[in-house]
Amino acid sequence: MNRFVFALLALALVVLPGCRRQSGSDRTKVVVSIFPVYDLARRVAGPDADVTLLLQPGKNEHTFDPTPRDIEEVAKAKLGVMVGLGLDPWMEKLMKDAAPKARVLKVGDRVPTIPIKDEAIGEEEAHAAAGGKDDDDHDHEKGAPDPHVWLDPQRARLIVKQLAEELSRVDAAHAGGYRQRAAEIEDSLEKLDKEIEDKTKAWKLKSFVTFHGSFGYFADRYKLKIVAVIEPYPGTTPDGKYIKKVIDVVGKQQIPALFSEPQLDPRPAKVIADEAKKPLDVLDPIGGVGDRDSYEKTLRYDVAVLGKYLGGA
Ligand SMILES: [Zn+2]
Repeated sequence: MNRFVFALLALALVVLPGCRRQSGSDRTKVVVSIFPVYDLARRVAGPDADVTLLLQPGKNEHTFDPTPRDIEEVAKAKLGVMVGLGLDPWMEKLMKDAAPKARVLKVGDRVPTIPIKDEAIGEEEAHAAAGGKDDDDHDHEKGAPDPHVWLDPQRARLIVKQLAEELSRVDAAHAGGYRQRAAEIEDSLEKLDKEIEDKTKAWKLKSFVTFHGSFGYFADRYKLKIVAVIEPYPGTTPDGKYIKKVIDVVGKQQIPALFSEPQLDPRPAKVIADEAKKPLDVLDPIGGVGDRDSYEKTLRYDVAVLGKYLGGA
């Protein structure tokens, strides 16, 4: 059999529908680190690419232990999408090990960033409490860019554009579809942004305390103020001294409620809520659980929860 005939036979096996083992198995494969970016990516991909989420909803986004199945999925990918900026370094390693030839899109590198605040607690209080000197030397760099960029819908729009461009690069045949769906999602995010802007503008209170440092971009976009973060190093329980500082801030400022997050142990928030005699509710920076099965629904949920306490009904 000469080479030409062999090539024809091979082609027939791929092209003839009857010979295909699995339908759609030739579609572009994409893996994404966390739910909010995954939701946007799968919608841009539509029927033209298969998008797989790696970090299961409900898990802390800063850590991840891949299973052999995850590694198999990553190995098939032409494109890996992660946040970057130190949020999901596990994804970078996974891509390097399992799919070294795939493209990697770090969405955090494609949007304007703002730095992590110098202190997790409102500056005056923290400065006084620390006696003017730094009493911990965690290697979280002060002033490093905050990686939670997706929590501002305007930045999410930029992310959607980048997703369409990267998908078009690895799968040019479907570029038209990727760009068209991206434009539709951008409209939906524009609408969401306007809606949140109108709601938050009417809130009587503007300050709140978050569980981990995830809502910085959200607060920045809607002119709200985060006066303390309960767990500045996500997954590391704060010590008693730090918790006392937060209770102090909650008492001095008009803080109507405390919030835990589904991805982290709520106990430190519960301790503070009990001590300060405030209600404890849940804010969700990631989504993907229950009714929060899309990016927009996750943000609307958070706005509804915050509005309950800051709206001053
Ligand atoms: Zn985080």
